[in-house]
Amino acid sequence: MRDDRGRTSPRLPLALCHAGRRWDDVGVCVCYNDFILDYHALYASAPSLFRDERQAKLRTKQLEVHYFEHLSIDPRDMSDIGKLAPELCEVAFPQVLEPLKQQIGDEGKTIKTLFRLQDSNLIESVLMLYPDRATLCISSQVGCAIGCPFCATGKLGFKRNLSSREIIEQVFFAARSLTSPAKFGPNTSDVHTLYEPRRLTNIVFMGEGEPTQNLDNIFEALEQICAPSINHTDDSTTTVRTQTARPNFGIPARNVTISTSGIIPGINRLAEAKFPLRLAISLHAPTDELRSKLVPINKKYDLDTVLDAAFQYYQTKKRRVSIEYALMLNVNDSEKHANTLAKILNRRGSNWVHVNLIPLNNVEGSPWTASTDSATSTFLETLRSRGIQTTLRESRGQDIDGACGQLAALSDS
Ligand code: SAH
Ligand code: SF4
Repeated sequence: MRDDRGRTSPRLPLALCHAGRRWDDVGVCVCYNDFILDYHALYASAPSLFRDERQAKLRTKQLEVHYFEHLSIDPRDMSDIGKLAPELCEVAFPQVLEPLKQQIGDEGKTIKTLFRLQDSNLIESVLMLYPDRATLCISSQVGCAIGCPFCATGKLGFKRNLSSREIIEQVFFAARSLTSPAKFGPNTSDVHTLYEPRRLTNIVFMGEGEPTQNLDNIFEALEQICAPSINHTDDSTTTVRTQTARPNFGIPARNVTISTSGIIPGINRLAEAKFPLRLAISLHAPTDELRSKLVPINKKYDLDTVLDAAFQYYQTKKRRVSIEYALMLNVNDSEKHANTLAKILNRRGSNWVHVNLIPLNNVEGSPWTASTDSATSTFLETLRSRGIQTTLRESRGQDIDGACGQLAALSDS
């Protein structure tokens, strides 16, 4: 069953959710699916496992520590809970994501995981290891409605939004494999690897889907992914764990990036949100005529409107915006394109954007191919010479179809 935001409903029947909201006639609490571990929901769904509601609250707190801090859902790790731990774990941790397959690329530095959802849909997430950080690229939807012709996800079409729990669980699996690689990491014995115990530090919503079309569930998920922060708009933001905070994985919201094809209401909501997220705009072209061919949503939200909204985001959040630009041979990669791009960015201000040039990754059926090295470096130097901070993104996961735009979860991929 699906609610009006496309979220799958949980199996637990409840008249009221933890927030006291009544959901629908069949009395299904969607919140249970949204927020991991709610003691009202646990108590209502399995009252025989608790002496009373107070004990349910205590057990929930214990489960939260195991899930978010010890990254465990194994009852054998829960001696503090006692003999009912297996039954409790079964109710508290339904398997919303089933890992089906892991592929290792870039000599062990990139790991793509294929998951099956409860309704048999498939999604992927990609973990990238760097010397100083570990970044997880996660999916927010099954497929995508925007249909950019150079993107494998776009070719799938839109199937549904992921629930917040499905988003959170992608983070759980990656965080657990990083802190206990011997037990939960991929089998890396035959490859050079940076896979030693470490923490997940960054998250990018650059997997399958258009995140701004699933913001309710993403915000709910972020409540439990991110450590609460203070001074949201100040560069000196510090991250704190407080007594009142929802239990969370402790990832700073400043290290979370939301990438969008340019959906204006979504960008505006992100600017108003309490999280100091990084915003990335998939621009790919400096004129409306070209952009409408590459990113079809441009016909609805044109280039000027998108850049105005991005600039507004920068002004509100005091966070530099990333412009994603995939270089396509003889399509958008000329010096003239670079000059026009510099002009439309500089017109709004200086030092407010960072351009990320992405070498186009191969996607079957895509009409375009990657630019040459010389066109790429001319493009980069042209932008830099006009004062635009520009970097060339290291392409990760190409050998396992795990690079930008290559995610199109297929069980035999
Ligand atoms: N839908 C969102 C986020 C997911 S796509 C968006 O479009 O921003 C993540 C990034 O990969 C986007 O910048 C997207 O334009 C880029 N991308 C898609 N297909 C690509 C390809 N074949 N090669 C390189 N980048 C690609
Ligand atoms: Fe969707 Fe982003 Fe792919 Fe375009 S690039 S089809 S918006 S996932």
